[in-house]
Amino acid sequence: MINRRQWIAGSAALAAVASSGSAMQAGGAKKPVVISSANGMAACAKAMQVLKEGGDTLDAVIAGVNIVELDPNDTSVGYGGLPNEDGVVELDASLMHGPSKRAGSVAAIQGIKTPSKIAKLVMDHTSHVMIVGEGALRFAEAYGYKKEDLLTEKSRTAYLVWKESLRAPNAFNNWLSMEENLTGRPAPPMKRLRSRFPSVDDDTLAWAWEMAIHPTYGTINCLSLNEKGEMSGVTTTSGLAWKIPGRVGDSPIIGAGVYVDQEVGGAGSTGVGELNIRIVGAHTIVESMRHGMAPKDAVLEALKRVSKLYNDDKAILDKLDIEFYALRKDGEHAAGSLWGSHRSYKQYTVNDGGESRHEPCVFLYTKQG
Ligand code: ASP
Repeated sequence: MINRRQWIAGSAALAAVASSGSAMQAGGAKKPVVISSANGMAACAKAMQVLKEGGDTLDAVIAGVNIVELDPNDTSVGYGGLPNEDGVVELDASLMHGPSKRAGSVAAIQGIKTPSKIAKLVMDHTSHVMIVGEGALRFAEAYGYKKEDLLTEKSRTAYLVWKESLRAPNAFNNWLSMEENLTGRPAPPMKRLRSRFPSVDDDTLAWAWEMAIHPTYGTINCLSLNEKGEMSGVTTTSGLAWKIPGRVGDSPIIGAGVYVDQEVGGAGSTGVGELNIRIVGAHTIVESMRHGMAPKDAVLEALKRVSKLYNDDKAILDKLDIEFYALRKDGEHAAGSLWGSHRSYKQYTVNDGGESRHEPCVFLYTKQG
């Protein structure tokens, strides 16, 4: 359910998993490294370019995630993100700047394509860390941003299909718990959908139906380290599709969606925010690394804490989607998800100076089949 993040299947998986996080640098030398969620190939490349040009680590990751925020085809971040219950796109973003130890955040902001930039303005120009809702929009407007319609034709169609889906048994229902929602997969009523949306092709209708009954999560988290050992991180999202207006996920919560202490490292998360908030995942990972855990083990420790929220009940956990990302100050990195197998696992993005590439996520539980 609730999952549009990239998985990979292939026989090279085992070897790849074994090499995960192998970017540890000898002798403490600082080679710039950028990592992100799987949707950040272009973002990591851009961030690395900014680092190579001598740019600040936070400016680098913001420039990177701006690409995804502005991409109308990414329906989980920024412009084109899937809207809330009222058909309005509401965005969350947060960031931390390692050198200055400052942070900024906006939540449930409407009408602004690049919430990460507004979070940076909060950090740079106010005495606050977090501004939400109408206040966040007014704050952005004060800095010259214009409120825009963030719906695209694709996301508007998905919203209307979601409305249609509410007639189906087992339709996703915000007024039930996440666990109660994790049942059933009503098949798309293609005939009805075709007559209702005659100008929309079948593939788009099938995708929109999948989004309707299993609302998508999707976010980008991006962490950077430069040659001087400076680090920053950012997380930005449109959050859970069809959410109750005002719902805030983990992404804008400092310590959950992102956390950076450049004396140790940085961490971030994507996936079901309601799980991460309860374990304050990014901060938990950084603290684990502070106490000597390798990034991979720190990520697995956070996943174990998520598992404990459900008393390790694999029947429930099987349906939940969460990923953690960790970058240590020496350049070693890792990412992990709850589930995977040697043939099928999630990925994250790494750029350590060349092309961006995907590396496999470690996983807590092995999926059969
Ligand atoms: N964590 C985000 C949220 O809960 C969504 C995601 O990462 O996909 O809003």
